[in-house]
Amino acid sequence: SCPCALVISVPLSFFCGMGGASKRGILIKGSNYVSSLAKARTMVFDKTGTLTEGRFTVSVIHSEGGMTQAELLDVAALAESYSNHPIAESIVRAHGGHIDAARVGSVEELAGLGIHAVIDGREVYAGNAKLMEKIGVSPACHEGCLAHCAGTCVHIAADGGYCGHIIIRDTVKKTADLAMYGLMMQNIKTVMLTGDTEEVGRLVAEELNIDEVHAGLLPADKVTIVEKNEKIAKLEEVKADLENQMQETSATFPSVEDAMASCGSSIEELGDVTDEQMQAIRDGFDGTLASIVLACGKQGVQIPESLQKG
Ligand code: ADP
Ligand code: MG
Repeated sequence: SCPCALVISVPLSFFCGMGGASKRGILIKGSNYVSSLAKARTMVFDKTGTLTEGRFTVSVIHSEGGMTQAELLDVAALAESYSNHPIAESIVRAHGGHIDAARVGSVEELAGLGIHAVIDGREVYAGNAKLMEKIGVSPACHEGCLAHCAGTCVHIAADGGYCGHIIIRDTVKKTADLAMYGLMMQNIKTVMLTGDTEEVGRLVAEELNIDEVHAGLLPADKVTIVEKNEKIAKLEEVKADLENQMQETSATFPSVEDAMASCGSSIEELGDVTDEQMQAIRDGFDGTLASIVLACGKQGVQIPESLQKG
């Protein structure tokens, strides 16, 4: 009979999938991404603004070294007034008053760390503990404080002296819980990446039942972790394909990690594996190979000849 129905059904299912997603505010670039998404085994999320509302509110202000709470908030708000980071916006909102731009000299945003600004001629830094460490300021007393208020801590230092900190809280998105549950039901591993502290990261991960958390990250660290997960996913995909092909033989397969360890390689050492190299591996296995060993180095992926069969 006529194959028209079959031929039409494939693109139509992609269109329906993309149309359905767009109705829910999800834009998918093309049908190839629909198939990639269907195969995804791990999903990696950013925390602030993705899993959380990204709408912080100031909950605690602790001033040090002779500054009043109002003065601390004033300096912090001036420093943060040029940033559109959710943290910065919450501090400016809490300040509520007029921000006198004439008091603010140069402002520099330090990704994953905080802000550096010149306020009333003073060198002001507002940001996390990593930033304080970088400029050699020790955030006195905050240890005990963090224990009773697990929020994101913004430390403030002026002219090399510690001025205190502002604790702000974010809330988990109402829909994030359901989304993570849905992924869990599909056996998809969830990973959360954050530049925030271990403590805050763990609290959010526990609330949402997230499988893996990486905290204290700079933007570049986040990219590295995503790339590593991509490599593992690619290798797992090749392995699954090969296992399907090899079902008739009695061969047993080592795990990707074991196979790589046996030839002295690890996921961490894995160089860039291009799509072409992956395709070459697939082509190399024509269903007669009994074992996979992926020896990976800077050249990509090699299968030792001694281990190839037939
Ligand atoms: P996340 O990984 O949670 O999305 P970011 O990478 O945006 O967070 O920021 C990481 C950390 O850097 C924040 O948790 C905060 O401690 C600090 N930070 C970034 N921008 C600012 C800012 N404008 N003011 C204060 N702290 C900031
Ligand atoms: Mg962010």
